Amino acid sequence: EHPILDYKEETPSSQAFMEEAEEVMPGGVTANIKYFEPHPVVMKHGKGSKLTDMDENEYIDYLMSYGSLVTGHGHEHVKKAIMEQMDRDGTWLFGTPHYLEVEMGKRLQKHFPSMELLRYTNSGTEATLLSLRLAAAHTGKHKIAKFEGHYHGGYDQMLVSVSPSVREAGNADAPYSLPESKGMHPSHARNTITLPFNNLKACKKILLQHKDEIGAVMIEPVQAGFIPAEKSFMKGLRQITEELGMVLIFDEVKTGYRTGLGGAQNIYGIKPDLTALGKAIGGGYPVGVVGGKKEIMMHSAPSQGSDVFDSSQSKRSSSKDVLFHSGTYNGHPMILAAGMAVLDILEKELDDVLKQTEKLKNGINEKLRKYGVQGEAVGIGSIFSVVLNNKEKIRNYRDLQKTDLATRKEIDFRLLGKGIYVKPMNRYSVSTAHSDEDINQTLDAYDEVLREVYE
Ligand code: PLP
Repeated sequence: EHPILDYKEETPSSQAFMEEAEEVMPGGVTANIKYFEPHPVVMKHGKGSKLTDMDENEYIDYLMSYGSLVTGHGHEHVKKAIMEQMDRDGTWLFGTPHYLEVEMGKRLQKHFPSMELLRYTNSGTEATLLSLRLAAAHTGKHKIAKFEGHYHGGYDQMLVSVSPSVREAGNADAPYSLPESKGMHPSHARNTITLPFNNLKACKKILLQHKDEIGAVMIEPVQAGFIPAEKSFMKGLRQITEELGMVLIFDEVKTGYRTGLGGAQNIYGIKPDLTALGKAIGGGYPVGVVGGKKEIMMHSAPSQGSDVFDSSQSKRSSSKDVLFHSGTYNGHPMILAAGMAVLDILEKELDDVLKQTEKLKNGINEKLRKYGVQGEAVGIGSIFSVVLNNKEKIRNYRDLQKTDLATRKEIDFRLLGKGIYVKPMNRYSVSTAHSDEDINQTLDAYDEVLREVYE
């Protein structure tokens, strides 16, 4: 019995649909990440913790749209907020400043006090991109440093050494910068310096070498949402970036609301200069936020320079004195209404989600021990991943590559066949909708799968 065949036989409609989709979109998908071999499962309904596919198979969903659905599918309070917002002001888009931008902003600032000022964007990608421009404007230094294995969005500057073949990626303490996509200009791999995660000594050495060029250091405080930075590492990184005049950017697109309402920065007790948020903040609607130190954020304040499009104001300082940031849909009222509804729920229920996640992680760890499997569920907050055959604690991308990824994949496919949905090789994200019954059902499925794989 082959695990892939197992799920494939139960999803003929998904397969047929994907053949049709391939006539419309390359590979049948509108984001490469949605694809997997031999074909993705195509869903047609979602509610609470559950997804239903085109063949009426039901799944407990732990992908939760890559973590963004922190209140589950179709939460009634979020839905109500959107419907009410639709009626409240007549229109759903003003194209002017409006009260929700400020209301939501104040609530975010309460949870993320490092955000002295903030701006909205339409995605996590746009948020990290804007933070890089702010850092360059502030420091006058245009190179960027990022960490091996960290993802910040699919654009050229940052699509470097996200998932390199370790064999070709240089020494562990001086990783190469490798482009991750066809079509990228080679200059990006030169201007983006790659650092080794959780290795302070090596980071310091590299940052010192490039101290006059690097303006920004961006980090996922919890790599891929489940490998936490060590506290001493984070503290050291904060110190060295401050000393060298580099803007420290926390990319909390995954960790925002998921490691607690105040994100990873609250857990580490470290104040980044800038923070990028996304995913859970919009509860399933497209959003991003950049916030941080006033003196950095103010580079984008148009009142500091001229209106870029208004030639009558040419006597004022040149438009180049202001950092350009725009977006037709930035701060969209419907999305902010959804975002505030998500916050209402999490301010009451997030602790329960964290407890529920612990229960699931502990349960999986127990099952692994029951079958004598070396491995563990690792992560903090409401996201985690399962690593197998790790010799020691996983500390970075290279450690992860040495784990048993093939068996992990097999387990994921077998779970898929038993109604547990994590896109194979992805993380688990728990939501307010995951009940005790869901957790128990998941652990029963885990038990069966581990028996099939290891006995
Ligand atoms: N940064 C991190 C840490 C992410 O996980 C992601 C998305 O997976 C992004 C940035 C990009 O966000 P988006 O997909 O909303 O553009």
